[in-house]
Amino acid sequence: MTDFDLVTLGAGSGGIAAARRAALHGAKVAIVEGRRVGGTCVLRGCVPKKLLVYAAQHADDLAEARGYGWELGPTPTFSMARWQQAKAAETARLEGVYRQLLAASGVELIEGWAHLQPGRDGAPHAVRVGERRLTARHVIVATGSRPSGDTLPGIELCASSDDLLDLAELPASAAFIGGGYIAVEFASLFARLGVPVCLYFRDSLPLRGFDPMLRAAAAAALQAAGVELHPGVVPQRVMKGDGTLLLAFGDDRVREFPWVLNATGRKPNAAGLGLACDGRGAIPVDDRLQTEVPGVYAIGDVTARKPLTPVAIAEGRAVADMLFAGSDRTVDLRRVASATFMLPPIGTVGPTEPEALAAGHDLKVYETDFRPMRSAFVGSDARSRMKLLVDAHDDTVLAVHMIGPDAPEIVQSLAVALTAGATKADFDRTIAVHPTAAEEFVLMREPMRTVKASSGGPATG
Ligand code: NDP
Repeated sequence: MTDFDLVTLGAGSGGIAAARRAALHGAKVAIVEGRRVGGTCVLRGCVPKKLLVYAAQHADDLAEARGYGWELGPTPTFSMARWQQAKAAETARLEGVYRQLLAASGVELIEGWAHLQPGRDGAPHAVRVGERRLTARHVIVATGSRPSGDTLPGIELCASSDDLLDLAELPASAAFIGGGYIAVEFASLFARLGVPVCLYFRDSLPLRGFDPMLRAAAAAALQAAGVELHPGVVPQRVMKGDGTLLLAFGDDRVREFPWVLNATGRKPNAAGLGLACDGRGAIPVDDRLQTEVPGVYAIGDVTARKPLTPVAIAEGRAVADMLFAGSDRTVDLRRVASATFMLPPIGTVGPTEPEALAAGHDLKVYETDFRPMRSAFVGSDARSRMKLLVDAHDDTVLAVHMIGPDAPEIVQSLAVALTAGATKADFDRTIAVHPTAAEEFVLMREPMRTVKASSGGPATG
């Protein structure tokens, strides 16, 4: 006999989804959380970030308004303090919603830090939270990740994305270190909010791992927004200045900034759980998300499989269904759509062109690049770019990549078509919604090029 059928460690998006689904199946469930309920996405990540995207989008809208006939009064200004207050109220509201959802599902919320003693050789698992010791038939580790603190000497002196989203005042200028999701999104937003940003990243283009078309277009969009790009340049060390931070480069150059963002990746919160970790500090799992200890599962960022909120949620539900509803469904990570919420945003589903070629597909590559009607009308040079990768032999659409207004919304819908196995012929016989940007995806008739897998494909990626 154990106290609980399931104890979930971490009340973020994945942990909450797993706990609620298990309770729905009739399991007795506890969830342990040491910080606020809701996790990184809701409190310190996706949700407040998207609220800052909406704030920053107004800068572009205001700039275009005159071209659409508006007379605007005195120069509008942005107050980070006012945004901050509204953001705090919204995340508090969402935390309340999650607490209510857990209570309504019959999940017991235990507040404190969990220490796991995995039960080996069939022994029950034990979780200590303060004075309390719980036993469980099953445990799901959903402890998430945190900003990396050891990528460069002195990097711990820099602010993290958590700190950025808690700023009451914007800095006069900033340096960002890193060229991934967080660096690109926030550099683009800061530029709109009037903060000059220098972006230091070690590759020749930002967003390593994205399709080359998106990487080049993202760099161009950042530059057009006024972000100073430093490809192939990262500081060797960060040091304290006089109320500032100093970035020391290999050539004896030192640059001083009032504020520096550490955007050099995130680390799984896997230490101290009594479970083996891999070289990245993540907890290895099998297809069923089970760790090396039978009955102990891990989901979401702590596994570093695909650190995205909807993946953690899908994984949590899949484990709960497997444990308490006899399901044998596993989570398919081959075609996960994702977005980068820079301005303009990126939406993508399926492999990059180099990945598709490396997987052995001969490709028909369709691309289009145009000025959206809304920008063209006011004389803006902003461009949208779209790309379809189609298997040259069976006509299957393998990937959709887009940068431009509404890209995440458009690609989310097309992801359904790709999941269903749509071919280019299916796209071609779909009648367009006019006038939209999305219609371009059903109007691309001639491939820009065909590429054989054996050609090795484009040089970058
Ligand atoms: P990423 O892994 O996306 O990017 C990390 C960046 O840091 C890369 O540019 C990497 O360079 C660089 N880097 C790593 N180590 C060093 C080092 N020692 N010196 C210099 N540069 C270094 O991490 P983020 O922090 O941007 O985001 C973390 C995760 O959060 C993402 O992987 C994503 O899963 C998630 N996220 C998702 C979002 C979304 O879905 N819209 C938004 C924000 C975050 P290099 O490329 O050369 O390795």
